[in-house]
Amino acid sequence: MSCTVTLEKTISFSRSSNQFLVTLIKEEDKKENTRSINELNKRKLVNYDSLPDFLKHNEFVVNYYRSEWPLKQAILSIFSIHNETLNIWTHLIGFFIFLSLAATLMLSVNGVSIPLKLHQELLVLPSFEPKTIKPIARWPFYTYLTGAMFCLLISSLCHLLSCHSKHTCYVMLRLDYTGISALIVTSFYPLLYYTFACDPFFRNLYMSFITVFGLASVIVSLVPVFEKPEFLMVRTGLFACMGFSGLVPIIHKMVAFGDRPEAVITTVYELMMLSFYGVGVIVYALRIPERWLPGKFDLIGHSHQLWHVLVIAGAYTHYLAGLVYLSWRDVEGC
Ligand SMILES: [Zn+2]
Repeated sequence: MSCTVTLEKTISFSRSSNQFLVTLIKEEDKKENTRSINELNKRKLVNYDSLPDFLKHNEFVVNYYRSEWPLKQAILSIFSIHNETLNIWTHLIGFFIFLSLAATLMLSVNGVSIPLKLHQELLVLPSFEPKTIKPIARWPFYTYLTGAMFCLLISSLCHLLSCHSKHTCYVMLRLDYTGISALIVTSFYPLLYYTFACDPFFRNLYMSFITVFGLASVIVSLVPVFEKPEFLMVRTGLFACMGFSGLVPIIHKMVAFGDRPEAVITTVYELMMLSFYGVGVIVYALRIPERWLPGKFDLIGHSHQLWHVLVIAGAYTHYLAGLVYLSWRDVEGC
């Protein structure tokens, strides 16, 4: 009798624990489903009005935004279509273009044959054997190429990851400013070093100025206290000083070497670079063309993509100027 009761109790206990387990499993399934639905929702592209404030930068780009995506999904979105896809890829391709330019130059005969060939084509000079000339220091030119690569890579990462969170967006934008400062500062190095290669006083003076302004602008970009409106003049003043510290040596170059074709050609390239950047800044600031047809350029053709292409064009023109500087000093020496 007692045995039967115990058995019934055991069966009843086992039934209820089975029930409990089934309920538990169902609950888990439900949670899992909700989680995957949330994940899916997170990966949906949204329109401008649904964005949190930190992602609202351009109301004329209306749709296809990624908003607060998990980091993994944000990284994988490099292979999907949204309104940042071309912003990411333009500068990533630009990075690889500069990487291959740097590698090709390094692998050419002492880094001499490529600038020499360009020099001979542009100036119709008699041919030199790369091995018969004494190459000038390459580091200012490689520093420029590194600055350009850093700027392009950081920019690409910034566009890829900023959609993740307010904090990520904040950090990535600061790094993006640092990359732009690096590009500006290192752009001056070939101009200053090679133009004044035989005049160490002016070479060191100009290079110290631009390096100090560059470092200051990086600090201003990275230290939060400088974001306050009362530092607006400091920020603007620093960028103006950076521009000015480029203008003075270019004028100096034309005064001192105006009769040299290398000085004229490099100045033409430098003016072309400034024009590319200038048009880029105007397109970027006025948000052309999307302001005329909001929503029509969300995926292809909006101002930020045009700005990226113009930055690459400007940086490439400067690379060509750098080659002329190298060959000038390789052939001429001091
Ligand atoms: Zn950008």
